[in-house]
Amino acid sequence: MAARILDGAAVAAAIRGELKPRIAKLQERFGRTPGLGIVLAGHDPASEIYVRNKLRTAGEAGIRTELIRVSEEADLSHVLAAVTALNCRDDIDGVLVQSPLPGAMGADAETRVIDTIDPAKDVDGFTPANVGLLVQNRPGLVACTPSGVMELLEREGIAIAGARAVVIGRSDIVGKPMALLLLHRHATVTICHSRTRDLPAVARSADILVAAIGKPAFVTPDFVKPGAVVIDVGINPVSDGARVRSWFPPDSPRLAAFAKHGSITVGDAHPGVAAVAGAMTPVPGGVGPLTIAMLLANTVRAAEARLRT
Ligand code: NDP
Repeated sequence: MAARILDGAAVAAAIRGELKPRIAKLQERFGRTPGLGIVLAGHDPASEIYVRNKLRTAGEAGIRTELIRVSEEADLSHVLAAVTALNCRDDIDGVLVQSPLPGAMGADAETRVIDTIDPAKDVDGFTPANVGLLVQNRPGLVACTPSGVMELLEREGIAIAGARAVVIGRSDIVGKPMALLLLHRHATVTICHSRTRDLPAVARSADILVAAIGKPAFVTPDFVKPGAVVIDVGINPVSDGARVRSWFPPDSPRLAAFAKHGSITVGDAHPGVAAVAGAMTPVPGGVGPLTIAMLLANTVRAAEARLRT
């Protein structure tokens, strides 16, 4: 039987809808809506698309946005100065710097940026202060992608307490916070990475399997226990026709989309997983929309916390 499709786009729309009255209340009580400042350095094409989506979705929700562009050739100090300026602004509640930064800014650029963001405005949840709060299961701003996955699991009625959860990927932005959030909801959690031995066998132990690897169609059906919930975080653009044709049946609309655009975005889970899993998120339309919805939710939360003080 085919897996139930977990509609991340619908859950994201519900989350955005719930923010509207909170935003209206802030406007009514404090005379302003939440403000989100985004710093974009360089012209990475994928970053341009991500930032455009964030600005549009935030604007539609009634959040004020401001985009600060830093040129590709500028040095890191310009990015840090932009962050500091946003930190100091009373009307800005959320600050984020789009990743990746231009390579010339240095290997430690992302860390230095994160260390400069005011934790009270850290709507990506990346600062050490917010990560520490997450580790201790105390209230703070939590990374958007994993908190979006938790919203999806909860709203879709998936049992987490006591479940065996396997997270493939240990990045600071997805894998690690994902594992912590599942742990705090009383799952028994295993984190896997590129050195994990016999990964398919470990993955097959999961009632909830989260794939955050960045490798198209990597999680094949033999990774999946029949009936498991598979959360596919991967966003992988693919332009190799032979690979795409090897994943989808000839009548798949994904092949038609590939023929039209010359590339498609696929997740980390192979399409064949749908025949084994009990439920799974699609790509696109699964975790991606939730990430942006949680960015907006974090911005509203930051505004509420700042204005209350
Ligand atoms: P990273 O590259 O930072 O981390 C990837 C992780 O996957 C690493 O921990 C790595 O292990 C692990 N990994 C790589 N190869 C293997 C392997 N062969 N076997 C087991 N583990 C492996 O990626 P991110 O966490 O930033 O992103 C992961 C994916 O999620 C990407 O496709 C990204 O585009 C997508 N993404 C989607 C978002 C959304 O909104 N849906 C938001 C953020 C990311 P090791 O640590 O050992 O190197």
